[in-house]
Amino acid sequence: MAGYVSGAGGANGGPRVVAIANQKGGVGKTTTAINLGTALAAVGERVLVLDLDSQGNASTGLGIDTESRFKTSFDVLAGKASILDTVLKTAVPGVFVVPANSDLVGIDSALAGDQSRPFKLRDAVTALVGQQRARPNDTQFSYVLIDCPPSLNVLTLNAMTAAHAVIVPVQCEFFALEGISQLKDSIEQIRATLNPRLEIQGVVLTMHDARTSLSREVADNVRAFFGPKVYDTVIPRNTRVAEAPSHGKPILLYDYDCAGSQAYIRLATEIIERERRYKAA
Ligand code: ADP
Ligand code: MG
Repeated sequence: MAGYVSGAGGANGGPRVVAIANQKGGVGKTTTAINLGTALAAVGERVLVLDLDSQGNASTGLGIDTESRFKTSFDVLAGKASILDTVLKTAVPGVFVVPANSDLVGIDSALAGDQSRPFKLRDAVTALVGQQRARPNDTQFSYVLIDCPPSLNVLTLNAMTAAHAVIVPVQCEFFALEGISQLKDSIEQIRATLNPRLEIQGVVLTMHDARTSLSREVADNVRAFFGPKVYDTVIPRNTRVAEAPSHGKPILLYDYDCAGSQAYIRLATEIIERERRYKAA
């Protein structure tokens, strides 16, 4: 894209592919996919949100009603459609989505006995990079954000095999670190086998309540566990953030000035700055 300066990109010039993963439910994965995606687009990135949860919350939160989900991430994984066949525009400039629906519940049986099971998404992303290169005048995605389901299942495995990196949202509540070692082990295992380039891009603290000592303690524990991988930016608990999806809008469109919007803009900026520093090092 002419005049387009990207802080992102994988090593081959394609998009930077980031899985947003934590096998715990309700920690802010989908909220981060939607709002980080929107914030990245607001600073000039071209973002594809790939919904990999059968609940389809990322699709809904980006304003895609169920009737419009003609082709979905299920079709991509089942080899019935390419990513570009399934991509939908959203109301947010620069944000596109591969939607999901309950079809994904059947992915295990659809891929049963298939030797290339873990590589379905990686192969689809590779095909996307090729197609985009062949069509330089089309929108060139600089980020693919994969919204993972709350499970370390075949979908999350596909996401981590396709991704350059993982962003882990951690909710600031008592059991925050429960299951985190298991998640870290899974990432290590996938790095050692299916995807040697996989790294933890960063850990983002979500639903932080500065008034409670519990939130502060959890934040300290998470920083002690993950060290500098934890972003300085913390996403506050903010009712506007929770309201926005029912209007089919990212928080930046629903209430730009609220604390949640401003936090996701800071997070996007921090991620891009870190990537630039990392590349320059
Ligand atoms: P996950 O995808 O990990 O299951 P969600 O992103 O769906 O988690 O978030 C779980 C719930 O918490 C949702 O109802 C969401 O609206 C709410 N939520 C997420 N982030 C915030 C926040 N910063 N402030 C308030 N509510 C939030
Ligand atoms: Mg979710």
